[in-house]
Amino acid sequence: MSEPEGLSKVRAEIARACRDAGRDPASVTLVAVSKTFGAEAVEPVIGAGQRVFGENRVQEAKAKWPPLLARHPGTELHLVGALQSNKAKDAVKLFEAIHSVDRPSLAEALGKEIARQSRRPLLFVEINTGAEAQKAGVLPQDADAFLTACRDRYGLAISGLMCIPPHDEAPAPHFALTAKIARRNGLSLLSMGMSADYTTAIAFGATHVRIGTAIFGARSKNEL
Ligand SMILES: *Cc1c(COP(=O)(O)O)cnc(C)c1O
Repeated sequence: MSEPEGLSKVRAEIARACRDAGRDPASVTLVAVSKTFGAEAVEPVIGAGQRVFGENRVQEAKAKWPPLLARHPGTELHLVGALQSNKAKDAVKLFEAIHSVDRPSLAEALGKEIARQSRRPLLFVEINTGAEAQKAGVLPQDADAFLTACRDRYGLAISGLMCIPPHDEAPAPHFALTAKIARRNGLSLLSMGMSADYTTAIAFGATHVRIGTAIFGARSKNEL
């Protein structure tokens, strides 16, 4: 099957960014963010060998993915968007990774569900590097204490950090700050970089790039 054009370009750009940074391309996981797109758009991307997909809403993922996962064993789903504590149960069941752990109540709910379901999704704490009022995430100055609480209070094994830089700022300082917080907390994974800035994120050590538009095309305006 021929490779979808957006996917080919993203794969080539990831390879180039890794070469420029002296990194092994295998150290970067492409998370293809398929939110708002239906199975007919997802199938060709799976057909081209892509195995990791991201969604930002539990409800949408529950409606769309079970048949796709059944048809394509080895495909995995990551939750990249905000998670309500009352959806922790569904999220732990459906996702192999959660990129948006951002507050004590959610950490507590996830800790309980992970113990109950004996599932071990990869967990990322989201850092609000720009301290934006409307954005989710832990403030940089609160990150170390929150990570300690995740481990000691809620029994969560956090693997990495995630950030979404402010729209109107250069992303590099935000990626650097996220990498620095991860390093001092002994975390090896970094979920950073979207369609507009993933090559920069790779230069700053991203291990997971979350890319929607560059693979699937533009989403309709009323969707995030
Ligand atoms: C939608 C979304 C993405 C993908 O964004 P694009 O700009 O379309 O690549 C990445 N991360 C999160 C958290 C998202 O909600």
